[in-house]
Amino acid sequence: MTAQNGLWTRNFVDGRFVEPDTDRGFEQIDPATGKLIARVHEADAALVDRAVQAARGSLANGWADTPVRERAALLRRAADRIEERFEEFVAAEVADTGKPVTQARELDVTRALTNFRTFADVVAAAGLESFLTDLADGGQALNYAVRKPLGVVAVIVPWNLPLLLLTWKVAPALACGNAVVVKPSEETPATATLLAEVLAEVGLPPGVYNVVHGFGGASAGEHLVTHPGIDGVTFTGSSATGSQVMKMVAPKVRPVSFELGGKNAAIVFDDVDLDEALTGLTKSVFTNTGQVCLCTERVYVQRGVFDDIAAGLAERARGLRLGSPEARSTTTGPLISQAHRKKVLDYFALAEQDGATVLTGGDVPELGAELSGGSWIEPTLWTGLTNAHRAVREEIFGPVAALIPFDTEDEAIALANDTDYGLAASVWTNDLRRGHRVAQRMNVGMSWVNTWFLRDLRSPFGGVGLSGIGREGGESSLHFYTEPTNVCVQL
Ligand code: NAD
Repeated sequence: MTAQNGLWTRNFVDGRFVEPDTDRGFEQIDPATGKLIARVHEADAALVDRAVQAARGSLANGWADTPVRERAALLRRAADRIEERFEEFVAAEVADTGKPVTQARELDVTRALTNFRTFADVVAAAGLESFLTDLADGGQALNYAVRKPLGVVAVIVPWNLPLLLLTWKVAPALACGNAVVVKPSEETPATATLLAEVLAEVGLPPGVYNVVHGFGGASAGEHLVTHPGIDGVTFTGSSATGSQVMKMVAPKVRPVSFELGGKNAAIVFDDVDLDEALTGLTKSVFTNTGQVCLCTERVYVQRGVFDDIAAGLAERARGLRLGSPEARSTTTGPLISQAHRKKVLDYFALAEQDGATVLTGGDVPELGAELSGGSWIEPTLWTGLTNAHRAVREEIFGPVAALIPFDTEDEAIALANDTDYGLAASVWTNDLRRGHRVAQRMNVGMSWVNTWFLRDLRSPFGGVGLSGIGREGGESSLHFYTEPTNVCVQL
């Protein structure tokens, strides 16, 4: 059983790949070269319905009641199998996204198997919430809450870290005894499809994991979230889409978990270790070509080190190596698509109209004939903008940041919090007390001190404001993917 049938990437429903019975499909393009990689079979409403029915059937057939230790063991086998097929996952992810092979190995695929192992551990260790209640007559009652699977969960994910973000949701959902119907991004369907093979190989019952391919509105995404048979939606993507999904789910009042966009700030104080801060900032601005929801797009720098940070970061940006994703020396891939590049270039033009000084980048690079059809863009840094400008307020989702000076701690906090988003922040300082103080005052879900994107998967992850609703990670994931039933016993 293989995910790929010739050029077709297929849907996976009820334990089987579905043979495309129509030409209804779309082309998948390699963002590094612009060449066709595959055709993807687009699921219509009837196929999405079959997937939801299969998921529901698998719950009724016993999956929801599988002992926790069996589910945890299955998750561990899935992680082992991903490890065995590691290079296939790396190749599929690199082909879909154009990201450097080194990053796909070290971050994307490694995190995928870690997601399975972590949630096997988390679910195995989870306890029950209980209270012994004192009664007026001197007696007592025992309250305890049993947690049951939510049911059929719709999982919708974006293209930037496709397998990492998918498994971040699928692993806890399965750990809790749910069945899932996943809708990967139309840009990156391959690894979700490959995961179907792996989960079948390790003995996941048919119907527990289903994949439907397609777009969002008026396609598989919308068919899925509006389907009356789903019991919850976990969504990662842009804030605008999250808002639409929320409206579509509202009539049925289903729980949602939303991990949405960001416009994340870094604050750099003048007591900082310059070299360490520059290394951290380079990562936080340019990892995955700036296409990580956690990436920094606003860098507030205390005036005393502003020129050093600006010059140092520009030098590091110029040192990034754009090129073939397969080359070990490549640090930076293309953007996901020509359409996304156009959006980012429009922001480049807008920033310049608004008076930005371009420290480095700002254009499309020349990388030779083989890569000329790809969606390449130069790592870019601006000075001269303020929080009033759109390029500093709106999520760009590219390898770009604006550097803005500040004088006092309070001013830096106010500037960083002056945003509609609230996903992540990072604080760079050698003053430990200040680090804690400022990090706690960030209106975000995740605040880092002297590091960025360092994750303990047991800790809560998510955002406030336009950046999302709810938290996933560790116990927070168990809470989203289950419903408690409280039992009260008069003793
Ligand atoms: P997107 O919102 O365009 O698409 C995300 C997913 O939603 C895709 O699978 C898409 O097909 C689907 N979709 C689109 N419209 C839909 C609809 N009407 N109904 C149902 N599904 C629909 O986002 P994108 O461009 O793929 O990803 C980039 C965005 O994701 C950025 O804003 C980024 O910040 C965000 N993101 C957030 C996190 C986080 O954890 N907070 C992580 C990664 C990415």
